[in-house]
Amino acid sequence: MHAMVLKKLGTGLESTDRADPQPGRGEIRVKVAACGVCRTDLHVVDGELPDPKLPIIPGHEIVGRIDALGAGVEGLSVGERVGIPWLGHTCGVCPYCLGGEENLCDRPVFTGYTRDGGFATAAIADARFAFPLGEAGGDVELAPLLCAGLIGWRSLVIAGAGKKLGLYGFGAAAHIVAQVAKWQGRSVFAFTRPGDLAGQAFARSLGATWAGGSDERPPAPLDAAIIFATAGDLVPAALKAVRKGGRVVCAGIHMSDIPSFPYRLLWEERQLVSVANLTRKDGIDFLRLAPEMGLVIRTTRYPLNQANQALADLRAGRFEGAAVLVP
Ligand SMILES: [Zn+2]
Ligand SMILES: [Zn+2]
Repeated sequence: MHAMVLKKLGTGLESTDRADPQPGRGEIRVKVAACGVCRTDLHVVDGELPDPKLPIIPGHEIVGRIDALGAGVEGLSVGERVGIPWLGHTCGVCPYCLGGEENLCDRPVFTGYTRDGGFATAAIADARFAFPLGEAGGDVELAPLLCAGLIGWRSLVIAGAGKKLGLYGFGAAAHIVAQVAKWQGRSVFAFTRPGDLAGQAFARSLGATWAGGSDERPPAPLDAAIIFATAGDLVPAALKAVRKGGRVVCAGIHMSDIPSFPYRLLWEERQLVSVANLTRKDGIDFLRLAPEMGLVIRTTRYPLNQANQALADLRAGRFEGAAVLVP
């Protein structure tokens, strides 16, 4: 197999050839057809997340076909198309797993962070955490659904049912969530970096009612806001933008420090929560509904060996929507 490997934090990925991995008991091997590039991959490469496995193959938005089954795998077959998400494995016995909150498992394994991911021609996955994808839709367009879509979906559910929804940071996740929210009959208010007129136009093209800079106030108080961007100073900005009883959801795995802010921004029962990881139920719920939503997924394709360029372009905001690596 061929892979783009992070050997040392803060350095580029190295193009590497390895022997094909063999699936162990309960595992599948997937021939990767496409793998999305997520902001979290940047956090892994930059060493912003604790204790990554090194060396590591990043990538947790994998679409591919099963080409080998380990012992004991049931319900999946060779040739079947599956998606492999961020949540790679859970312990199944901790209080969170037993309580239906496997996203908070005490001993999880995360694809592309603590087990090898999809910036490669092949990947191994725990069969129970792979999602059958069926045959509808292209591999490249499906890949961003595996994290941007799934985490976006979980964030949207946790944001509640309010009609006026703010999205801070209009990248891969927000460009999907905006369409989901519109499909649900909500109004979307998109906040980009100040002056990012192209991003604001992109948001409006996807149905946003209003788009502006994150330093602007929306034309009406919001029922809820989801922050996908990594700047902690968006937290007080979003709290200012939501109505009494409104909710602000931090959807990213990493954020810069949140500046101190006056208590009156939280007062009147505003809520500030974070979203961590996903459960398999999130994936099943979202992937079942997604085909009905008419989602238009904007992707920029890169050959696998240009993974470093894709990461650099993501960091610099040089494309709209999602980057996807194709082996
Ligand atoms: Zn657990
Ligand atoms: Zn991700």
